[in-house]
Amino acid sequence: MASHVFGRGPAPLPVAARGEGCYIFDDAGRAYLDGSGGAAVSCLGHSDPDVRAAMHAQLDRIAFAHTGFFTSEPAEELAALLCAHAPEGIGKVYLLSGGSEAVEAAIKLARQYFLETGQPDRHRLIARRQSYHGNTLGALAAGGNAWRREKYAPLLVETHHIAPCFEYHFRGDDESAFDYGQRVANELDAEIERLGPETVMAFIAEPVVGATAGAVPAVEGYFRRIREICDRHGVLLILDEVMCGMGRTGTLFACEQDGIAPDIVTIAKGLGAGYAPIGAMLCSDTIHAAIASGSGSFQHGHTYHGHPLAAAAGRAVLGAILDRGLLDQVQTRGQTLSAALDARFGQHPPVGDIRGRGLFRGLELVEDRTTKQSFDPARRLHAKIKAAAMDEGLICYPAGGTVDGRNGDHVLLAPPFIISEDEIGMLVDRLARAVDTAL
Ligand code: PLP
Repeated sequence: MASHVFGRGPAPLPVAARGEGCYIFDDAGRAYLDGSGGAAVSCLGHSDPDVRAAMHAQLDRIAFAHTGFFTSEPAEELAALLCAHAPEGIGKVYLLSGGSEAVEAAIKLARQYFLETGQPDRHRLIARRQSYHGNTLGALAAGGNAWRREKYAPLLVETHHIAPCFEYHFRGDDESAFDYGQRVANELDAEIERLGPETVMAFIAEPVVGATAGAVPAVEGYFRRIREICDRHGVLLILDEVMCGMGRTGTLFACEQDGIAPDIVTIAKGLGAGYAPIGAMLCSDTIHAAIASGSGSFQHGHTYHGHPLAAAAGRAVLGAILDRGLLDQVQTRGQTLSAALDARFGQHPPVGDIRGRGLFRGLELVEDRTTKQSFDPARRLHAKIKAAAMDEGLICYPAGGTVDGRNGDHVLLAPPFIISEDEIGMLVDRLARAVDTAL
């Protein structure tokens, strides 16, 4: 049957018929172990009874009420619970429908904050070359992924990109990890000075880089230095936790492990856990107060922002993460996954690096493990591994993105937080067979 869905590619895709726990079943009844939660989305697995019940109950009450007229119980409860567990200083939540919308809102809020505090020249955004912040035009402009930006370059607003913190490829042999982190963080300082601090609005970064790099955390001390630099220049720090937030790395917010708090933080994927399209932009009380006592409102909005049914899903997901002890589970199962990957791939060409935090892990694929030479783009493995893994009954997420001459070739793993020890073994076995097939 011809498909009329405007999808991602030409290949015929299997039809996802139902989901249960860590598995998706196609319409022929074939089970796929969801080793990546789609793209780090399905943190509770599929068909979670509590989330389904919460959504049914909300649907029976009211599905939608426009936020221009009403707030809703699930939106209020979700925002309160997020703030109770958010990094220090964060006190307000703006609910949206996904990650790109959350990033767009963050950029616009930063701009409005400076207008309302009498600093209208601050409009410049600095980001990192190895980053993905979404596909809408503002978020795409912020991202540093060259091939995603290329076609739309004339439509993208001014953004300045600095080096990523990517120890595997860019730490010098004679440099400690800490010194390397300070050196690349100092690029932000230099870039702000070059542009003129009075013109710079914000710096945006993913605490653990996902789609462009395959779960790359910063080295110890990097983000503390970034925080200091932003504070010294009065620049807002926006952390994009759309992929790495909501417990994926073992703490509710990934930045907790870096010992800093942002001015604005975005979350999405794990917030709805795939049950509803929902994202959020959280901001500091300081930013909110400036706008509340200034013009009075954030000049933004989408028809579906604060959607009650989506908020009910998010409220139930967050409740499940907190009440079922899933953050601890992410840490312990994350160690199991990390150890299993090390055991299986530690000496296995073409895997050059195994990295990540919690249940957010990446494998970097290289032509030569000693020189870390990447594969020629025509020979990259990640797409072949994805296809071979599907044949093995495993979903893993390929990630790409050349940065500073290094050809990114990665596989990202982000299984549901409920994955069992046995399923971790199964995941790694199937992945190993897929890598061997792809070679
Ligand atoms: N920010 C990050 C860090 C992401 O990983 C993504 C999606 O992969 C986005 C933003 C965009 O989110 P969405 O696809 O929900 O618009």
